Amino acid sequence: MKIIMLGAPGAGKGTQAKMIAEQYKIPHVSTGDIFRANIKNGTELGKEAKKYMDEGKLVPDELTVRILLDRVAQSDCKDGYVLDGFPRTIPQAEVLDAELKKLGDQVDVAINVDVPDENIVGRMSGRRACLKCGATYHIQALPPKQEGICDHCGSELVLRDDDKPETVKKRLEVYHQQTQPLIEYYSGKKILQTVDGTQDAKDVFAAIERIL
Ligand code: ADP
Ligand code: ADP
Ligand code: ZN
Repeated sequence: MKIIMLGAPGAGKGTQAKMIAEQYKIPHVSTGDIFRANIKNGTELGKEAKKYMDEGKLVPDELTVRILLDRVAQSDCKDGYVLDGFPRTIPQAEVLDAELKKLGDQVDVAINVDVPDENIVGRMSGRRACLKCGATYHIQALPPKQEGICDHCGSELVLRDDDKPETVKKRLEVYHQQTQPLIEYYSGKKILQTVDGTQDAKDVFAAIERIL
């Protein structure tokens, strides 16, 4: 099964993608996590991506597509995957479709996690991320068992640089301009499903399970 998560930054795509990955035993592929791992390790790719990420802008399509196609070509992805944060532009979606088509394959479903802009800033300022394993928490809604420490790997949790309110505003603008058109794109392909992302995370997941 090949699943795409759509939604504004902070809508809960990552949280749901992790639950899907666990339940359906498929890899969770997050371009944001791949970029952050590269930044942490000081790679050339990380240096290039950071310039855009810190400003709340998208990393250029060419670079992003290359990274994503490399990742999904790995053997653990052969029976499917859940994409979180990719595609984010129409050209990215078109390349993914074309590559899958060459393999006689296609995306099965695009799940739009719908959360209005007014809820987003609170979610982002309360988000705490583990840069080691990619887990995310929320200081109120989804706290870790021990404050500041990742439940899964014991690493220290951080407020991401790009989760500061000024950058979040920019990211929301970029979302509306460049990513939101994908809702229409997948709707046109008759594979779009929308869930109400303002519910508790477990209720959002229950809605996704009904779809899958
Ligand atoms: P969030 O989950 O909060 O939306 P991500 O971790 O998915 O954030 O992405 C963080 C940043 O990484 C984005 O703001 C963007 O700069 C970059 N990025 C991630 N995925 C993509 C993509 N598919 N295309 C371009 N840039 C991306
Ligand atoms: P995205 O990947 O779409 O950027 P995340 O999954 O990282 O979003 O979630 C953004 C923030 O909101 C995190 O702090 C997360 O713990 C929290 N969160 C996720 N789902 C919910 C929910 N249903 N209700 C409240 N907070 C949530
Ligand atoms: Zn962790």
